[in-house]
Amino acid sequence: MLNVERISKEYPARSGTISVLRDCSFSLEKGESLAVLGPSGSGKSTLLSILGTLESPSGGALELDGIRPFGLGEKELAAFRREKIGFVFQDHHLLPQCNALENVLIPFLAEGRVSSSQSDFALELLEKVGLAERIDHRPGELSGGERQRVAIARALVRRPSLILADEPTGNLDRTTAASVTELLFSLLDSSWSLILATHDLSLAGKLKYQKEIDDGRLLDRAKG
Ligand code: ADP
Repeated sequence: MLNVERISKEYPARSGTISVLRDCSFSLEKGESLAVLGPSGSGKSTLLSILGTLESPSGGALELDGIRPFGLGEKELAAFRREKIGFVFQDHHLLPQCNALENVLIPFLAEGRVSSSQSDFALELLEKVGLAERIDHRPGELSGGERQRVAIARALVRRPSLILADEPTGNLDRTTAASVTELLFSLLDSSWSLILATHDLSLAGKLKYQKEIDDGRLLDRAKG
């Protein structure tokens, strides 16, 4: 369902161009998970931005659910991103004035009215992430791990095909980081797939596949 074919990314630099990604290819089925490893600056965020269609590649192609998003017009691309992709960032990006339930509903609120089935699904997700008792708490009244749980529920509320998580536990202590990763993983079902960028080997080991960016190339990494 996700096919990545020879994606490359170059940025202009003073002395020509710098090549951040070179010929990165892989495919991922729904229900599968992939960890992208690599030290800081290796290109993990750049790869996730391209997979999330927030940035265009310099070369190569991306296909998700049979659609090649980089061939779409601006409006269609924005709709594709909204419907198909959920993002979880290192910083939760929750709105401080909104409670947990409203934050999960943000993707719908941005478009207008929220239906009762959408609201019910948001509540169901908050329950699944263990926050049924916290739905009316604002981010300031939640712990770091709880905020990331809200962010995970928000990423899933539109039933996306792909969740992209960029160092989602980077700001959490080890125990909380492990439980948040465990949660993401436990929610994974056959309707979506998960790509997680991390430099943490033990977190990456929980996912089905591990790849590493090395000098711009995406290489298989032996599990261990
Ligand atoms: P990581 O997520 O692994 O830390 P990034 O994808 O953020 O790595 O960055 C990879 C490289 O690409 C870095 O050298 C960074 O400086 C460079 N880079 C990222 N975005 C830009 C940009 N918009 N313009 C120029 N260089 C960039």
